Amino acid sequence: MKKAIITGITGQDSAYLSKLLLEKGYEVYGGVRRGSDRTYWRLKRTGVFDKIKLLDFDLTEYSNLFETIKKIQPDEIYNLAAQSFVGTSFTQPIVTSDINYNGVLRILDILKSVKPDTKFYQASTSEMFGKVQEVPQNEKTPFYPRSPYGVAKLGAHWMTVNYRESYKMFATSGILFNHESPLRGEEFITRKISLAVSRIFKGEQEVLEIGNMDSKRDWGYAKEYVEGIYQIMQNPIPDTFVLATGETHTVREFIEKAFIVVGDEISWEGEKEKEVGKSKKSGKIVVRVNPEFFRPSEVNLLLGDPTKAEKELGWKAKTKFEKLVEIMVKADLDGFGA
Ligand code: NDP
Ligand code: GDP
Repeated sequence: MKKAIITGITGQDSAYLSKLLLEKGYEVYGGVRRGSDRTYWRLKRTGVFDKIKLLDFDLTEYSNLFETIKKIQPDEIYNLAAQSFVGTSFTQPIVTSDINYNGVLRILDILKSVKPDTKFYQASTSEMFGKVQEVPQNEKTPFYPRSPYGVAKLGAHWMTVNYRESYKMFATSGILFNHESPLRGEEFITRKISLAVSRIFKGEQEVLEIGNMDSKRDWGYAKEYVEGIYQIMQNPIPDTFVLATGETHTVREFIEKAFIVVGDEISWEGEKEKEVGKSKKSGKIVVRVNPEFFRPSEVNLLLGDPTKAEKELGWKAKTKFEKLVEIMVKADLDGFGA
């Protein structure tokens, strides 16, 4: 039985990945830090909570990582743990850097001395492309991160490549574009919208307050992206892969589609910070811009080119934009993530 450690077991991707690995016969260990939400609601949603062996695990504590890795002797480590919210990285850049950059270096260096044959996956991100240098973005596109989150993840990405090349370790990196689901954190825009629209529909909320509606993202379905992560780790050689849908849409489009799912339509009035969205059904303002949600520097456009993953791994995103919006809004209407 292969042993896998998934770091950040309480997160969105871990809930789907742990289910996948259990189905493939792995013994799954999940790293959880002391401050984590101990309801384990995501693991319960995917029905795997009682099958995972929990480990006391914090990426900022070297000795904790060292002892844990030494004891478990894992075959594979999936490093999904991170301070994963770009917005918070502007107010907590040092914490973000310690977790997202130094944390990765700690694991890599421990593996090098304790168990160098462990396969390692690093959760890299399209945020590393930031102010994009070409469209679409692929594995060869130059990076230009636009937030402390992106900068820290880029350092971790290169450190992973460096340990792969310097010490011949099986260190892989998946540059994943935004991937969402009903298990997504409520601070991220897609889930913020799906929750707000379902609550507005039920009369539990009046207005959705939003930042920049014109930024574009390549949004896919998290459940499918963890299959890509697994395939990256099973590839004969350790490598870097982009996982994306190859489509991009604005935040505004996400809002419009979400209201269509509940049988409503939005008409836009005004400009910039004064812009509002009105419900055709009620005539009320249901979307409003709040500059509080603007970021000091923005990533305006992300569009991934997943050709390499398609050709070499046989991985392809199946769930596209409209279906994803529908899955998320319907789940929140049913109280899925409550
Ligand atoms: P989540 O935010 O849902 O999960 C992050 C996990 O990391 C949580 O379990 C969190 O625990 C844990 N964590 C945070 N800090 C520490 C720490 N110091 N030590 C140990 N664990 C910690 O992320 P996702 O599932 O959405 O994403 C998984 C990974 O993929 C992340 O690294 C993210 O940056 C990256 N990524 C995600 C994308 C996406 O669109 N979802 C796109 C590209 C990359 P706690 O419950 O305690 O907060
Ligand atoms: P990111 O791509 O990792 O930053 O994912 P997010 O879901 O946090 O943000 C996606 C885009 O939505 C970014 O361009 C944000 O600026 C934009 N956005 C606009 N309004 C909001 C908001 O209220 N919350 C969040 N999280 N993002 C917003």
